Amino acid sequence: ATPTAVMVATGKGASLGVLIKGGNALQNAHKAGFSLLSIKTIVFDKTGTLTVGKPAVVSFQLFSVISEEEFCGMTIAAEINSEHPIAKAVVEHTRLLRQKHGFENDQLTEVKDFKVHPGAGVSGKIGEKAILVGNRRLMQMFNVPIGVEVDTYVSENEHLARTCVLVAVEETIAGGFAVTDPVKPEASLVISYLRSMHISSVMVTGDNWATATAIGSQVGIDKVFAETDPLGKADKIKELQLQGASVAMVGDGINDSPALVAADVGMAIGAGTDVAIEAADIVLMKSNLEDVVTAIDLSRKTMSRIR
Ligand code: ADP
Ligand code: MG
Repeated sequence: ATPTAVMVATGKGASLGVLIKGGNALQNAHKAGFSLLSIKTIVFDKTGTLTVGKPAVVSFQLFSVISEEEFCGMTIAAEINSEHPIAKAVVEHTRLLRQKHGFENDQLTEVKDFKVHPGAGVSGKIGEKAILVGNRRLMQMFNVPIGVEVDTYVSENEHLARTCVLVAVEETIAGGFAVTDPVKPEASLVISYLRSMHISSVMVTGDNWATATAIGSQVGIDKVFAETDPLGKADKIKELQLQGASVAMVGDGINDSPALVAADVGMAIGAGTDVAIEAADIVLMKSNLEDVVTAIDLSRKTMSRIR
């Protein structure tokens, strides 16, 4: 029989926007509640979890002799096929550039051989020209050299916590964008509050080290792991679990689902993808990080009473 205290807490949680999921929500609440009692580490995804998840382009630069018109046309044609939030930001900005120069009504060319490279970007062919849109890793995968000028542009922006998107045409970097995604207003307060509860905060992200480290220091995170693929995120959780205490994971993306499953308690951001919500034990309906603390408080008040 499920103790009344858990039933009450489940209802209380739901009224606070902390939803305990599953066919047997009460049993899950019991399990999650006890895990939360002994939590020592919380792992956070970056994009959409610690950050707002609405990236916007803040700078744009051409690096080759390509015309802005051709550059914009090719970039839109490739990125319009991608679901990635960074791609949406790039498409929106490129549209504005086209409008500004009066060629927004030009026909968009079609992409052939379009391919998504998870955690790196996209590739395809426009007419006879090969196009790549993505990060440094994507350029390395296709052996596109990154010269000093491009390297400087990327490094400078990454240290400002921005993510860079490079566009290569025929194996030459033609231009790039810098994208910002601001941190959630409550993020640093929540992390310092967790520290006062002797819970350490860790970030895992598919984004590059420089941007991840810059965002990490903005929110005061204890440890950063960057350039991690989805299974790598889950491996990090398992590594932390080997240190003895329970580990919670907070994430929003398809990328986070293996880690949400691996964690003792998986918490999905309500505004996140269905796949993440499916993989989690708890859904933070308001998508507010303060509710990580709400969940822990609730379990401490409830579970200590019925032990
Ligand atoms: P995260 O873990 O931060 O959610 P992802 O694994 O989704 O990150 O992506 C990692 C990186 O791959 C992004 O920060 C970006 O640099 C690059 N990337 C992925 N898809 C695209 C795309 N369609 N256009 C540009 N860059 C992309
Ligand atoms: Mg994310």
